[in-house]
Amino acid sequence: MTDLLFYTDSYLKEFEARVVGVNLDANAVALDRTAFFPGGGGQPNDVGWLMIGGESLAVTRVRREGADVWHNVEGRLPEVGALVTGRLDWERRYRLMRTHTALHILCGVVWRDYGALVTGGNMEPLRGRMDFEFETLRQELVREIEDKVNAESAAGRALRTKNLPRDEAFQIPDLIRTKINLLPPAIAEVRTVEIVGLDMQADGGTHVANTREVGRVRVVDYKSKGRINKRIEIEIT
Ligand SMILES: [Zn+2]
Repeated sequence: MTDLLFYTDSYLKEFEARVVGVNLDANAVALDRTAFFPGGGGQPNDVGWLMIGGESLAVTRVRREGADVWHNVEGRLPEVGALVTGRLDWERRYRLMRTHTALHILCGVVWRDYGALVTGGNMEPLRGRMDFEFETLRQELVREIEDKVNAESAAGRALRTKNLPRDEAFQIPDLIRTKINLLPPAIAEVRTVEIVGLDMQADGGTHVANTREVGRVRVVDYKSKGRINKRIEIEIT
């Protein structure tokens, strides 16, 4: 079982860990702890390096399998029991944290001011999209939404994460609207991410600590994908 260090500190860039499994076919190692995000909820997995005995192995892919996180590496696999130092490609990860947080702001603004629900989303560093059930969305509204998103990021709202017992989480209206009921029954605890005063989601990704870190958000594309479904694409600078 891998201890997920990014849940307690999303700003952790480097960490020490022990190899607890090797997969020769995939040229991958499982670690007892990791700061590498394995991907999920629209956020891509991290990449970076594992350092061992003066050698640096590129981590090209990270994925979760059951309770373990596997790191695909280039080069000779370390042995089970070996100590490694992991280092994230921090520039990329931090861009993803800013992008991910920007999407939360977008989602929060669109719900608060227009009552529209999110149906999906995806991101890459500094670019993301969200799909909404938003019948009344028109091109003219897009600039207004962009201004509101930038006002919220400039407002310097704090982000807070919590682990709530499932029953407690199911009482929170904000979480119910984001389809928390789709969580598998086996999940006893729900991780929540709150932009204080704006938005709350059940969420397993990594975010910045304050919306001010997001930077400037630009809506670069808007698509009507039918009468109800609309897509907004953003870029961060
Ligand atoms: Zn999130």
